[in-house]
Amino acid sequence: MTTLLIHSGWVLPCDGDMRQSFRPGYVYVAGERIEAVGVGAPPEGLLLGADEIINAAGMAVIPGLVNAHTHLFQCFLRGLADDRPLLQWLAEATWPGGLAMTEHDFYLAALLGFVENLKCGATSVLDQDYVQTSPRNMDAVAAAAERSGARVLLARGVGDREPYFAEFQESAETIIAETGRLIRRWNTGPTSRVRVEFGPMIPWGCQVETLREIGRLAHAWDVGVHIHVSESRDEVQMSLDEFGLTPVRWLDEIGVLDDRWQLVHCVWLTPEEMDIVAGRGSLIVHCPVSNMYLASGIAPVGEWRRRGIPTALATDGPGSNNSQDMLEVLKTTACLQKVGSLDAQALLPADVLAMALHGGARAMRLDGQIGRLAPSALADIVLVNLARPHIAPVHSAASALVYNANGNDVDTVIVGGQVLVRAGLLTQLDEARLVAECQAAAEGIIARAGIRVAAR
Ligand SMILES: [Zn+2]
Repeated sequence: MTTLLIHSGWVLPCDGDMRQSFRPGYVYVAGERIEAVGVGAPPEGLLLGADEIINAAGMAVIPGLVNAHTHLFQCFLRGLADDRPLLQWLAEATWPGGLAMTEHDFYLAALLGFVENLKCGATSVLDQDYVQTSPRNMDAVAAAAERSGARVLLARGVGDREPYFAEFQESAETIIAETGRLIRRWNTGPTSRVRVEFGPMIPWGCQVETLREIGRLAHAWDVGVHIHVSESRDEVQMSLDEFGLTPVRWLDEIGVLDDRWQLVHCVWLTPEEMDIVAGRGSLIVHCPVSNMYLASGIAPVGEWRRRGIPTALATDGPGSNNSQDMLEVLKTTACLQKVGSLDAQALLPADVLAMALHGGARAMRLDGQIGRLAPSALADIVLVNLARPHIAPVHSAASALVYNANGNDVDTVIVGGQVLVRAGLLTQLDEARLVAECQAAAEGIIARAGIRVAAR
């Protein structure tokens, strides 16, 4: 079993007391799990016995961040539909762009996205894929996930009714059969590196009976259900016009919501809907940069917290962010709540880190296994260089991480004990070659889709 020792870092275990930190501290890894975390210099036995030793002087040592919602195929579409609201952004670039992508394009775009996530400190990524023009698209994304080394949960995005984009619709039979095939192939154990779950895109894109069947099978197959809900005010109005109910009330009315459901965005929930979410034990995934970018609104995070609703953080797809920088998301989460509530203490650095780590672990369905540095937890660890002009001097590592650091400050990334990024460089992939391949492939898609790139 390979062993790894990280020493002399500013260690934030994020296990229980979010304010605890060891300066200096050490983390000892054996195989894919953490074996010891401690304060001060490591015991001599660990120092002598480790196969690899990393000196983390000047760095924060934290659990790998969790990006709990993205759509990585959009890596090839980022920047194409800036400055438009959600429904226009979907119709003018995201849907036609996705339609023009080949199986190999999906592989490349996802690989680029997983690499970006890793290099920005996210060791776990929840990717919802909704371009089901070929059954092989999902296999390509899963292969990219495996190639990247990231810990990945793929939500197989589905839609089977208007007004969801006609070209991406499938029959309920295909949705169930294909999701089942992928789950049987990839969910080989509770902590397998790549896993699959259900991803009905959006309440207005799915038949009632399909959602009920998904909810039933999620229990039978022990997987989660990932869905966008109440992202924009227009969608709430669509639900009121068709069903006379707001989206969460409608989902509850059809009897599907429970603690397996991951509700993405929830910007426009009514107080009654927040009570429903809390009562059913569902989780919310908050994507503040995307909510700002698409002018969707400011989510009532404080109201969720008052009700004890578990909340994870995410970038959303590269088409509406436009990056995958989870450190930027941490700062935006705190700042957006401050300005929305006119309360400078609305969210503190420790609160934001807990959302990204513990809420994220729950979204990945790996509660207790990731998101903390503690014996027996999976060794998903990130080192962030704090000895830089835009960060130093550091008085609180949590404050520096949330308010100063960005993805470029990530030095080392470890997933399951495997070093995937060392000194800011990928250990297993040729980054320059990947970027060049992706640029060429993306230009081909834009030409085939006939998307006009507006000069601004
Ligand atoms: Zn999304």
